Amino acid sequence: DQELEDESDEDLEIRPPVVTVMGHVDHGKTKLLDAIRNTSVGAGEAGGITQHIGAYQVMAEHEGIERKITFIDTPGHEAFTAMRARGAQVTDIAILVVAADDGIMPQTVEALNHAQAAGVPIVVAVNKVDKEGANPAKVRQQLTEFGLVAEEYGGDTMFIDVSALKRDGIKELLDAVLLTADAGLDLRANPNKDARGVAIEAKLDKGRGAVATVLIQSGTLHVGDPIVAGTAYGRVRAMFDENGETVAAATPARPVAVLGLTSVPRAGDTFLVTDDDRTARQIAEKREAVERNAALARGRKRISLEDFTKALEDGKVESLNLIIKGDVSGAVEALEESLMDIEVDDSVQLRIIHRGVGAVTESDVNLATIDNAIIIGFNVRPDPKARERAAREGVDVRFYSVIYSALEDVENSLKGMLKPEFEEVQSGVAEIREIFRSSKFGNIAGVIVRSGTITRNAKARVIRDGVVVGDSLAIESLRRFKDDVTEVRTDFEAGIGLGKFNDIQIGDEIETIEMKEKPRV
Ligand code: GDP
Repeated sequence: DQELEDESDEDLEIRPPVVTVMGHVDHGKTKLLDAIRNTSVGAGEAGGITQHIGAYQVMAEHEGIERKITFIDTPGHEAFTAMRARGAQVTDIAILVVAADDGIMPQTVEALNHAQAAGVPIVVAVNKVDKEGANPAKVRQQLTEFGLVAEEYGGDTMFIDVSALKRDGIKELLDAVLLTADAGLDLRANPNKDARGVAIEAKLDKGRGAVATVLIQSGTLHVGDPIVAGTAYGRVRAMFDENGETVAAATPARPVAVLGLTSVPRAGDTFLVTDDDRTARQIAEKREAVERNAALARGRKRISLEDFTKALEDGKVESLNLIIKGDVSGAVEALEESLMDIEVDDSVQLRIIHRGVGAVTESDVNLATIDNAIIIGFNVRPDPKARERAAREGVDVRFYSVIYSALEDVENSLKGMLKPEFEEVQSGVAEIREIFRSSKFGNIAGVIVRSGTITRNAKARVIRDGVVVGDSLAIESLRRFKDDVTEVRTDFEAGIGLGKFNDIQIGDEIETIEMKEKPRV
């Protein structure tokens, strides 16, 4: 960024760190954010009605000095990664919340992978230490495997025991955040210029029009400034903070809700102050045109295994980034190990940037778009949002049910000799709405076909919450009312018998699969 490079050292002033709280569901992210807000120095002083504006600032005492910390009030790595996908990095430090009774869980690993991929330092909050069965030492030991080694054990990650419920350890946690900020991060910005920053949340309010919470990253935002945020523009009519107090000028790392934009920006959109209203409008209109073109060009932009192979053939040195999702952790580990064992030319690198258990999610796809990765799903499926987003962004997502096929595909690509392959094409998806027990035929699934066509001759698969629970099944009976049929189309109901396979539940999906030769691009 030209402007940043031009900045001389003496213009820069220390700014508060911006923190995101991440972790597994129910480990206490929301409770911790509440506890931090309520125990900080000066909390409640404002006396206003606290408002959710998507971020807030607290005061913390550190080595006798009162300092501010900004917290993003949307817990979880999804928002974090969605913003990164739009090119915005607002977080300086991540607090990884791990419940001491549960220990690390799939989303703990997911969150730390996302923070690590973004190069954001992590402070671990070991929460719920008040609970019986809490084992904070075990959390430390478990995270060692993921490169987070506690200071007590000679590493450089700070682990702080807290109870969000009893509000214990909050001061120590804030202290650790400030120590981390001071240790390795150069958190400075020039407050004496036109503001720039990122929209972190926005909505349309009936009375007030577009309300966008922005985080100032440099400069100072004033009431009356003409601004453009993403493709929205306008003039700052009023600003207020998380206590509902009006703000006249907002300095770096300060989150404020801004009124006066003509439309609603999206989370992760950058904003800047312009010389006048006309310039703001012109920039917004230009951005909109660029976005339209980008949308048209998308779908070809991301790397696929085929593109990668071609790049290799052309002698270009490349690294292949992979995201691995699987139904069980053993499979993910086995796949990861075998992939790393593939012997290839030294010039080619294979990097596994994220691995996890469970369905392929939207945040996996977001990560893939940022780091130009290919997603390998083993015995899992994408959730609907992920499927839609992958298609829109042109992310290469591949599904396998045999580790060997996945290995062969990647290995062939790495060696630059992709053979024609067969891919599984989903021909139909049905949702189980009822189950009929039949002593003669086993369980019969009463389904409604949600998409495509269910065909009698296809192989079937049963999926529960995005995970394959039954594979390569034959459809032994397919009926509409009392009639045997060969196919059932979208929106029609049917009864499906899967022979000896009886492990079906209401809500499961049955999908049918056909094998098709995949065209080379
Ligand atoms: P989130 O899904 O990570 O945002 O988790 P929540 O903040 O909603 O907390 C999940 C549950 O754990 C709630 O019932 C909280 O009351 C409880 N909880 C959170 N922190 C603590 C804690 O420090 N101690 C105890 N005993 N319970 C907690």
